[in-house]
Amino acid sequence: MDCIFCKIISGEIPSSKVYEDEDFLAILDIRPVNHGHTLLIPKKHFVNIFDTDDDIARKIYPVLIKISKGIKEGLLADGINIIQNNEKYAGQEVFHSHIHIIPRFREDSLKF
Ligand code: 5GP
Ligand code: ZN
Repeated sequence: MDCIFCKIISGEIPSSKVYEDEDFLAILDIRPVNHGHTLLIPKKHFVNIFDTDDDIARKIYPVLIKISKGIKEGLLADGINIIQNNEKYAGQEVFHSHIHIIPRFREDSLKF
């Protein structure tokens, strides 16, 4: 399958790894909107939230919390945005399910 995130997960394409376990990989986004912009990606290929299986759906939130806390402490972020784009008309560009974890800083001027 021609999926960029499957290729990153298999190691075929390099990435900057933030976290890895049996089911998930978290990497730095190649075009970060802010310092430390991270993508949490299930290793199993799902297109987006609409076809994600129950097992991964159940497991992802604790991992999201763990990574968010790590990023907040590690980067001294003042806050975190959690975003998922599902389907083209919601801005999804990579059709392998992923969650954006975006550190926010008191002085930044991002708008979501
Ligand atoms: P989407 O719009 O699908 O929610 O976001 C896809 C994200 O994947 C974008 O923020 C984009 O910068 C990131 N991305 C696309 N290709 C690559 C890649 O090859 N490596 C990494 N690390 N991020 C990528
Ligand atoms: Zn994939």
